[in-house]
Amino acid sequence: MLTLEQVQAKSASKLSGLHPVVRKATEALIEICYNRGVPIVITQGLRTNAEQDALYAQGRSADGRIVTNARGGYSFHNFGLAVDFALLLPDGRTVSWDQCRDGDGDGVTDWDEVVAIAKTLGFEWGGDWTGIKDYPHFQVVFGLTTAQLRAGRTPTETDQARAMAAIERLTEEERDVKVDKAKVIVNGEKLAEESVLIEGRTYVPLAAIGKAIGATVGWDNKTKTATLTTKEGK
Ligand SMILES: [Zn+2]
Repeated sequence: MLTLEQVQAKSASKLSGLHPVVRKATEALIEICYNRGVPIVITQGLRTNAEQDALYAQGRSADGRIVTNARGGYSFHNFGLAVDFALLLPDGRTVSWDQCRDGDGDGVTDWDEVVAIAKTLGFEWGGDWTGIKDYPHFQVVFGLTTAQLRAGRTPTETDQARAMAAIERLTEEERDVKVDKAKVIVNGEKLAEESVLIEGRTYVPLAAIGKAIGATVGWDNKTKTATLTTKEGK
């Protein structure tokens, strides 16, 4: 399984140059999505005007299909206010734009999960646009247009502080892991030992499971390895 650090490292280079609020929101998005079983990677952050012009040329003066209506200076990426994401598959290398994928098997597509979390963090989603939809795209624009940004307007201190506080509150709530008691029944017998429920997963003492199914439990402290061996397994 990928660690949070591995997942964060995949996006690190794309976070430089982002507006501090967008950077904070993106970092929170990566972490919360990871905690929900949906690792993501940021594929695009700040885009220079020259890069934007090259993208605009695609399908017009250059080969390929049209992917944007924005010339240099006309995309929120050009101001460090937007990011694009993709799903990161379990091998830690392959990315996916499959909007039907449900990698964590919770009955909600991974894409929808990411979009829902992003919106709680204050992002607008490109999938909500009329006209060319941009499903991997998130932005925080503070009520400004690219015309205003081109003219040198910047987000107000108040708007930035409010956005930052909302992101911090959400991140903290997320880190308060909720632990509930859980009842576990094996072959009709309730285990005497207490089990716990953390974030939708049940944790049962291995010794209790072993006893209940008549298996031998071993523990190697050096390698921190537990073994569960049934009679058939020997
Ligand atoms: Zn984008």
